[in-house]
Amino acid sequence: MPALTLCHQAPSGHLLCDNRWMGASQHRGGEGDVAGFAERLLAVIDEGRRTATYKLALLLALMEACIENSSEHGEAPSSLSTRQIASYVAALYWPQLEQFPTATGSIDLRQITNKSSAILHALGALREVTGPVTTWETAAAMCPQEAGPSLDVVELTVARYPLVHLQVINGVERPFIYDLEWGESVTLAQLHRDGGGEVRLRPGAGGQLIRLAPLVRPLAELHWVRMVAALNGLTVEEEELRRHLFGAARASFPLNVRRGLPAAQDRPCFYCNEHSPAAKYAIDHFIPWSRWPNDALENLVISHVSCNSAKSAHLPGPVPLSRWAERLRTRRREIDDLAIRTDWHSRRATTVALARSVFAHLPDGTPLWNGPRQIVESDRARTMKPLEGL
Ligand SMILES: [Zn+2]
Repeated sequence: MPALTLCHQAPSGHLLCDNRWMGASQHRGGEGDVAGFAERLLAVIDEGRRTATYKLALLLALMEACIENSSEHGEAPSSLSTRQIASYVAALYWPQLEQFPTATGSIDLRQITNKSSAILHALGALREVTGPVTTWETAAAMCPQEAGPSLDVVELTVARYPLVHLQVINGVERPFIYDLEWGESVTLAQLHRDGGGEVRLRPGAGGQLIRLAPLVRPLAELHWVRMVAALNGLTVEEEELRRHLFGAARASFPLNVRRGLPAAQDRPCFYCNEHSPAAKYAIDHFIPWSRWPNDALENLVISHVSCNSAKSAHLPGPVPLSRWAERLRTRRREIDDLAIRTDWHSRRATTVALARSVFAHLPDGTPLWNGPRQIVESDRARTMKPLEGL
């Protein structure tokens, strides 16, 4: 006889059934769909804002790792290593080591209720050696000897705590993103025994993370900001703290980047062929910033201010996409030179992976901006084509 299932609405808006948590959409039979997965992620974020920002960092790191390690067809990887995840977590916390200015002086920001965070302590030790360089990647490249042990601490902390606890909702473990084979007492030697701790992503979970990233990332960041404000007793403007922790919503570019970009494209405005001496130009994020913050040179183009604002947060259609792929093929030297001259970051592989993962997970029929006054509907086969072989 099937067990009687009693459902009630939990305060958070999720449905609880006989101690089995499930998204409302699963009640409608939509097992494995985006809405069900999204609801579980919301529950994770909700649980994540209790004692430390670690879970939120892990969630952001998982999304970023899935996007940046996607296949040539834009598919998410089937597993990630704890080492990989640790480097994304380190990259998130690195800029947050910077002291936050308050009315009574600058303070180190607490990220957990405990007095000291193992992750921040390890990264802080590296920063003593490297000085205040802007990114974790730069620090790791600068001092690989010291970066290794720092990353060991981040990796072990992430493996023991947020990875083990992320999928525990209301005290019950309900894996839906990944499976692990260890608990809180795992050691680094155990993780590294078979070439690194393997975080096996559940079928479809990586794709869901990629698909939901533009919605989930700002939410996770918002909770992170609020949590840091609470942990440090700050009563500042939310946006000010957000900018400190995650950077400006839009980066401001040095003049030499702005002046150097036209050499990396074959026309004054990347999106149209109109020439006017009075036209004003701006830097545009080819894959919109709101989709995923990426200001690597490969993702920057120069366009009319008018084209830039018409494109807005739309994804580019097949015409600009083909032009962009062509630019990556034929203007590689110009982009590399610009990176050296300006010391601005160039991330070719990451940017290509980002574009592929975005378009591979886009539902057919999504409006795309193909140029001034041209909106087309996306069609996976057509939009993925220009990205082949990059
Ligand atoms: Zn234009």
